[in-house]
Amino acid sequence: MRLAHGATIWFTGLSGAGKSTIARAVESLVDGPAEVLDGDELRATVSSELGFSAQDRDRHVCRVGYIAELLARNGVVALVPVIAPYARARECVRRRHVDRGSTYLEVHVATPLAECARRDPKGLYDRASRGELHGLTGVDDPYEAPSAPDLRLDTTGMDVPTAADRVVRLLADRGLLP
Ligand code: ADP
Repeated sequence: MRLAHGATIWFTGLSGAGKSTIARAVESLVDGPAEVLDGDELRATVSSELGFSAQDRDRHVCRVGYIAELLARNGVVALVPVIAPYARARECVRRRHVDRGSTYLEVHVATPLAECARRDPKGLYDRASRGELHGLTGVDDPYEAPSAPDLRLDTTGMDVPTAADRVVRLLADRGLLP
């Protein structure tokens, strides 16, 4: 599929919810410039000095939002699988896009905590349960679920192509597929 113009699609949700997997699946469907802004990669580079306090999480989200908006404004489909646990930082990113006339869509990957912990692709929930990791979002750190996302996806019992297709349908509904 080719999009009419650039856009940011932000995937927010708990670790293991499926954000990165869906972002990559959508990326593979896009003809033209698309970029997954990988959360771990950004934390190791542009946010390497930041930790996981509320303030640092917000700083990280604002930086990533800045990069995504630059890309979106220049014709790139920026796919952002970043937890972004606080509503205020997500709103800040959304406003930045709106103010500059860039398209911003928020997808809440709302896979429940129990399913995320069952998948545990990075072993984080296991480490938290052993007391080796503190401040894990949804376990002992807050996650403010979006009240009005553009799309909410619980991927429990859903395969990846179906999840990606739901995002494609959102793009079509918003007139992004010419
Ligand atoms: P996140 O980026 O939200 O931390 P990941 O995408 O890294 O999560 O991991 C999600 C895990 O769930 C992967 O192992 C993926 O294969 C699995 N999974 C199962 N079903 C789905 C689905 N419908 N959508 C996305 N991921 C899924």
